[in-house]
Amino acid sequence: MMQIALAGNPNTGKSSLFNILTGSYEYVGNWTGVTIEKKVGLLKNKQGYLIDLPGIYSVNPLSKDEGVTANFLLHESFNLILNVVDASQLERNLNLSIQLLEFGKPMVIGLNMVDVASQQGMNIDINKLGSLLGVPVSPVVARTGKGVEELLHRVMGEDSEPAFPFKIDYGYKIEDAIDVLGHKLPEGLEANKRWLAIQFFEGNEVVQAYLEKYVDKDWLQDLYRKTEQGSAQKTGIQLLPQAIRQRRAEVIAGILDQAVTRTKTSELTFSDRIDRIVTNKFLGIPIFLFFMFLTFRLTFEWLGNPLSDLLDGFISGPLTDWTTAFLDQVNATAFIRACILDGIIAGVGGVIVFVPQIFILFLIISFVEDSGYMARIATVMDKLMEGIGLNGKAFIPMIIGFGCNVPGVMAARSIERPNERLLTILLTPLMSCSARLPVYVLFAGAFFAGQQSLVIFSLYLLGIVVALVLAKVFSSTILKQEGGSMFVVELPPYRIPQWQTLGRSTWEKGKGFLRKAGTFIFAGSILIWLLSYTGPGGIDVPMDDSFLAMIGGVIAPLFHPLGFGTWQSGASLITGFAAKEVVVSTMTIIYSVSDSGLGGVLMGHFTALQALSFMSFILLYIPCMATVGIIRKEVNSVKWTWFSVLYPLATAYLISLVIYQGGKLLGLG
Ligand code: GDP
Ligand code: MG
Repeated sequence: MMQIALAGNPNTGKSSLFNILTGSYEYVGNWTGVTIEKKVGLLKNKQGYLIDLPGIYSVNPLSKDEGVTANFLLHESFNLILNVVDASQLERNLNLSIQLLEFGKPMVIGLNMVDVASQQGMNIDINKLGSLLGVPVSPVVARTGKGVEELLHRVMGEDSEPAFPFKIDYGYKIEDAIDVLGHKLPEGLEANKRWLAIQFFEGNEVVQAYLEKYVDKDWLQDLYRKTEQGSAQKTGIQLLPQAIRQRRAEVIAGILDQAVTRTKTSELTFSDRIDRIVTNKFLGIPIFLFFMFLTFRLTFEWLGNPLSDLLDGFISGPLTDWTTAFLDQVNATAFIRACILDGIIAGVGGVIVFVPQIFILFLIISFVEDSGYMARIATVMDKLMEGIGLNGKAFIPMIIGFGCNVPGVMAARSIERPNERLLTILLTPLMSCSARLPVYVLFAGAFFAGQQSLVIFSLYLLGIVVALVLAKVFSSTILKQEGGSMFVVELPPYRIPQWQTLGRSTWEKGKGFLRKAGTFIFAGSILIWLLSYTGPGGIDVPMDDSFLAMIGGVIAPLFHPLGFGTWQSGASLITGFAAKEVVVSTMTIIYSVSDSGLGGVLMGHFTALQALSFMSFILLYIPCMATVGIIRKEVNSVKWTWFSVLYPLATAYLISLVIYQGGKLLGLG
């Protein structure tokens, strides 16, 4: 069966094409760094596998995800490269195409986004481009599927190596060195020798490591140095990688000259005009904050809460009634009744009622990703982030973290420098994920009715501010980094997202929540209920004498200075480590809700100030179990994993202490 490697720059539509060609669904987002691991899918015609590689600008890896492609080329077997090229950004895209062509495998170019290119007044002579590059070029619009059949046809028919392999003359000093290195290598290598040599001279570390298996390291260094000197004498370009890139750029300019004509002179595009405003030095951050605030308004007050109330009405009304009637009919024992009504329905139902808010929030995050605004946020934040030892790119994992911290932590892979990446991973869990939302909605709804979205907005902001402050602290102490970092997020043109894509990616994000409710929270609710129903004195004990009260009571005194030193809060915090939603489940079970609703009951147990302190603590105190797991995997260090658990605890404690004690001093509680 044919193995086809799908490669191209970030954000050129690879995943869109992958989805069409394989009929599968993969995350499509309008920003760099969406696909961080290679994915494999079976072609719809069942005649081959398509391997979606992460987007890269060059085979020469700068970051961890870029290394995936270089390693893939070197170590995996495949028949053909399908190179996706963004027609509207030909110049930059061809840089990668040429490196792939030099690899010498059969290749087809999928010239994507031809719709955008023609809108911008670019006229591309497809045949000319194909003959200059020596491989078939097939125009497509991956977004709508136009041209995909022809492309697939081309791909299936293309199994021979290019008749006129593409070759750049890098000047005789470099060409000589390519030959010398080629002769030194054993016969029968998988990878093309010329390609290996060029990549090595361009500073590709993955290739260097590969070569060192066959050739002496010192000899290699020596060859590199001599070639660099020789080439510098001839061209005046001091660094060898730069000399190679320069030559490539000249060749690309020549190709574009012959194959592209412009009918319009490049004037300000629509995207440029919007960007003038939203990425403006002074307006950028206020606009982002305003957008966030609107998001919360919409998520809670305008749309989410009314829907949520309907759902709540259904669960506590008809659903409970039906279940009770059913339990009566089957003569269920008191134990089973309590387990189902006070455990499962209370615990799972208590969380499920927040489905509307969570899905609306996910819809908005998907919109931000797919419209292109995400990349602007990163740009706007860059200045600020630079001052604290990170760059704007680090903000993307954080925004993803608003949905769920787990993919947020994973998205940090697109960050090049190890210390910056570690820092981003450590701080992403401070972003308020959707699992914490139920807690806020519940408490803010009860204690700050009328200002609910403002309070929730402030909590999200608190998470961001704490993350930024700690980034500064960490980057100037334990995670020092030398030199400035580089920021290479490109600004893709704005696109109106398609409903289909939006719907799909919202569902992809949200289904995890539903699944969790059906499994984890379900089981957790039963367990918590059981702990609240039993105690040293037997079963059906008063809740204050239950095991749950004992467990919660152990840590409760610790939280006394923070304003919530009750066993109920203690128990919720412990169970909340498993998953933050469980905090609400636990509270629903503990305060077994009467007619006044959980919010009403809570008002008897907390003051507004205590509620605020509690919410802040929930926001910051600890990443959930799944997040700790993924951190462990991503940083591959027990020490840093412990750190990621302990520093938030300390921070949360401090901040809640300040809120509560400060508030009391001000006479607020
Ligand atoms: P990847 O990063 O290369 O995997 O790119 P994606 O498949 O995630 O697509 C990036 C963005 O470009 C998404 O917003 C797509 O909807 C959009 N897109 C993909 N192909 C086309 C196309 O041919 N024309 C236009 N106008 N947009 C496209
Ligand atoms: Mg992708």
